[in-house]
Amino acid sequence: MADHRKTSILIIYTGGTIGMVQDQETGTLKPFRFDNILEEVPELKKFGFNLSSFAFNPPLDSSNINQDAWIKVAEIIEQNYQGFDGFIVLHGTDTMAYSASALSFMLENLAKPVIFTGSQLPIGSLRTDAKENLISSLEIAAALKNGEPVVPEVGIFFENSLYRGNRTSKNNTEDFNAFISGNYPPLAESGVHIRYNHSVIRNPEKSLPFVVHKRLGNDLTIVKLFPGISRAAVESAFSIPGLQALILETFGAGNAPEEDWFIGCVNRAILRGLVVINVTQCKTGSVEMGMYETSRRLADAGVISGHDITTEAAVTKLMYLTGVSHDREWISGQLAISLRGEMTI
Ligand code: ASP
Repeated sequence: MADHRKTSILIIYTGGTIGMVQDQETGTLKPFRFDNILEEVPELKKFGFNLSSFAFNPPLDSSNINQDAWIKVAEIIEQNYQGFDGFIVLHGTDTMAYSASALSFMLENLAKPVIFTGSQLPIGSLRTDAKENLISSLEIAAALKNGEPVVPEVGIFFENSLYRGNRTSKNNTEDFNAFISGNYPPLAESGVHIRYNHSVIRNPEKSLPFVVHKRLGNDLTIVKLFPGISRAAVESAFSIPGLQALILETFGAGNAPEEDWFIGCVNRAILRGLVVINVTQCKTGSVEMGMYETSRRLADAGVISGHDITTEAAVTKLMYLTGVSHDREWISGQLAISLRGEMTI
C-alpha cells in the first residue's frame, strides 16, 4: 500500500540503452527489471519516495518510436496524473528530442514535471551515466517550491543540464553530454547542488484544465536544402499526395535558392493549400525572413517563419496541429506563435 505522505514518482521505461544490464551468465545486454527498480538501483531507496514504474513490453529502441508510442506515454501520464507528483520517461537518446517535443505539445496546461532521460552507457555497466541521470531526474521531478513543482514542464535531463524538451537536439553520439539547446538556456544545472534557473521555467496557467491531445497527423515532410539540390527532388517532395505541411530546412537565417523554378514550386504548393514553414539548419540562431533577398522571396510566397524552432519541435508541433484540425488558416496562425515555449519571437 502506497504511503500518501511521500512524494510519488512514476517512471515510464520506453526502452533504450539506459534500461540494459549485463546477463551474469552470457555477458549479453538484456532489459532491466523495472518492476524491481529498488532492488536493481538500491541508491534510489535513499530518496524515500513512492516509486512506481511502467515498462514498455518489448522495450523500444528509440529509432522505432512513433506516434503510437507517444500516445501511449501521454495516456499513462493522463491516467496517473492525479496520483503522482512527477513523471520520469526513460528513453533512448536517438529520438528523445522528438519525443520530448511531441509530449510538450500533447500535454496542454501541464502542471507537473515530465522529465525525459536516458544514458549513453547501460545502467548495468561500470562507468554508466545512467544512475546519475536517473537520480538527478528524480530529484528534479520531486522538487517543490512553496508547495508547487519547480519544473512543471516537459524537460530533458542529461549529464548535468536540464533543458526544455522542445528546445533540444541530440548533438553527440559519444559524449555523456549528448544534447544541446542552442536557443534556450538550461532550466537547471547540476553540480554539488541542482541550481534552477527559475526565470526561464514556464509556469502553468492554473485556471486552465490539463488537456491531453492524442491525435497526431503525419501528412508532413522535410526538405533539407543543399547547394545544387535538384528540381526533381524538390518538386517530388512538394507534390506528395495528401501532404498538408512541409518543413523547409534552409540555410543560415532562413535563406534558400532564388531560382525561379524553386520559388515557383513553393508558390504553387502554397496556393494549393500546403503549409510551408522555414526552419534553419543552424543549431543556434533564428530565421529572419527578409533579411536577405534569398529569404524575402519565401516570405512573399507565404512561407511561415519558424523563428528559432528546432526541426524536432517543428515536426511534432505540425503533427499535433494537423491532428487537431485541417484548417490551414488556424494551423498557420498557431505556427506563428509559441505554444509551449518552443520559439522565441
Ligand atoms: N539506439 C539507442 C536508442 O536510441 C541509443 C540510446 O539509448 O541512447 O534507443
